[in-house]
Amino acid sequence: MKLDAKALRYLSAEDFRVLTAVEMGSKNHEVVPTSLIAQISQLRHGGSHKILGDLAKRNLVARVKNIKCRYRYRCFDPLNKASKFIPPSRNAYAYLDDGYRLTYGGYDYLALKTFARRGSVYSVGNQIGVGKESDIYIVANEEDQQLVLKLQRLGRVSFRTIKSKRDYLQKRKSASWMYMSRLAAMKEYAFMKVLHENGFPVPTPIDLSRHCVVMELIDAFPLRQVDEVKNVGKLYSDLMDMIVRLARYGLIHGDFNEFNILIRDNGDPVLIDFPQMVSTSHANAEFYFNRDVECIRVFFKRRFGYESVLYPKFGLDSNREFDLDVQVAASGFSKKLQEELEAYQAVIEQAEDLTEEIDDEGAEEDREEEDVDEDESEDETKETETSDEVKLQEHDSQTDALVDDIKAAESALRGVKLHSNSESESNEDPEPINNRSYKAHRDTAPKATKPKAKPATNLDKLAIKERVARALKSQSQQKGKFSNQNQTKGKEKRKGREVVKAGSKGDGSIYD
Ligand code: ADP
Ligand code: MG
Repeated sequence: MKLDAKALRYLSAEDFRVLTAVEMGSKNHEVVPTSLIAQISQLRHGGSHKILGDLAKRNLVARVKNIKCRYRYRCFDPLNKASKFIPPSRNAYAYLDDGYRLTYGGYDYLALKTFARRGSVYSVGNQIGVGKESDIYIVANEEDQQLVLKLQRLGRVSFRTIKSKRDYLQKRKSASWMYMSRLAAMKEYAFMKVLHENGFPVPTPIDLSRHCVVMELIDAFPLRQVDEVKNVGKLYSDLMDMIVRLARYGLIHGDFNEFNILIRDNGDPVLIDFPQMVSTSHANAEFYFNRDVECIRVFFKRRFGYESVLYPKFGLDSNREFDLDVQVAASGFSKKLQEELEAYQAVIEQAEDLTEEIDDEGAEEDREEEDVDEDESEDETKETETSDEVKLQEHDSQTDALVDDIKAAESALRGVKLHSNSESESNEDPEPINNRSYKAHRDTAPKATKPKAKPATNLDKLAIKERVARALKSQSQQKGKFSNQNQTKGKEKRKGREVVKAGSKGDGSIYD
């Protein structure tokens, strides 16, 4: 799916209005009936009809013929809801209507338009990357600063394929490509932001809209394209350190490989691509951690002939000190949204396995997403009929809550000004939770309770003495407990360093 920025220049305000109406209608409909689009856009039916035809020609929407609708859309209430339908009366009848579905082209346009309004993207340049589920472009902002635009393309490959065969995901109504791509972009932005604020070498996140993230352009090559590095041992050690540091902050990258590590001219690595990051408290955390470590070991052996006996192990090297995963959840990308994306990723993984099986048997041919033509319309009609029913039964309450959730989350995420960390941090982001801040909090507690004890002067002296003695005793026990912990921690650290030094090849790096 190419990002066609040129075609976007020629859209009128009315075109935009209709496109927005299709997006709004998509909230509750996979295929949005033409009558509903007309109502939302509040143009005459004929007017929106013509515009829809134009938009379809430019691949911003795709037409689906003869969808069966159970409800007629008669009114639009812009203040309360995007669409309001008349519930079926006793004589309610199904009627046929054409419908439109937003394509990635249309979704791209809406996101670009938002970026342009905010000044974060002014012009679009070359495509520099194409992943299985994303497209990467160089863009520039109003000050002509070069940036990277990453568009999520979830569902491009496997979702359609599976859907046309067995419709596995039909019941998961939230598993639309639009919604899932949006979740993936939010996750990417949320993690990049938190990592960036905590000093990890990642691109600076700039902006987020729908399924797109704008970020700093890193002037570097992916490790995959690097044949020679000045100091292989140091790079190996830097990367292992990064895995360990992430784990200490409560996170695992989950796809830590030569494609997602960029190497600057001076040899410094920069980490990218975060939609699959997991918390160290994830059920499969150990598996993901070890896989990340193994990826680097295998690559270094193959590419540079470099092997080291030293590599981090989950549990030993990954004692958690900070809770960045909690910080991510607090920043707007909630646990619930994370779980939803994970569930989708799991379904897709299963579906891909299944597709391979079906393809092995030499079954039907796959279809391309944009090919919604007359041959397919019958198929689509059936599909829409059933899914429309499912949607309308459950209707607004659930879907609206979901869409509202994600909208709120998106603005919460963007709400923090990234360029002025110091100003915004204190208001918007929770402090990193670590042992020290926990202790500091405990230390202040007894002070706060002291004044409360004052009014108890009526108590006889003996009782007060007893209380004070008890309090002192428990305080000293607490102190002892913590200082013991610190000592053992310190000892372990020193021991660790000695082991590492002994195994080091001399340039002082930990996993060298
Ligand atoms: P995917 O999810 O498809 O793997 P990535 O985020 O890994 O997408 O990006 C794919 C490629 O795009 C990378 O290998 C890299 O070459 C390029 N790229 C991505 N982000 C940046 C960036 N911020 N600066 C420079 N190049 C980037
Ligand atoms: Mg990648």
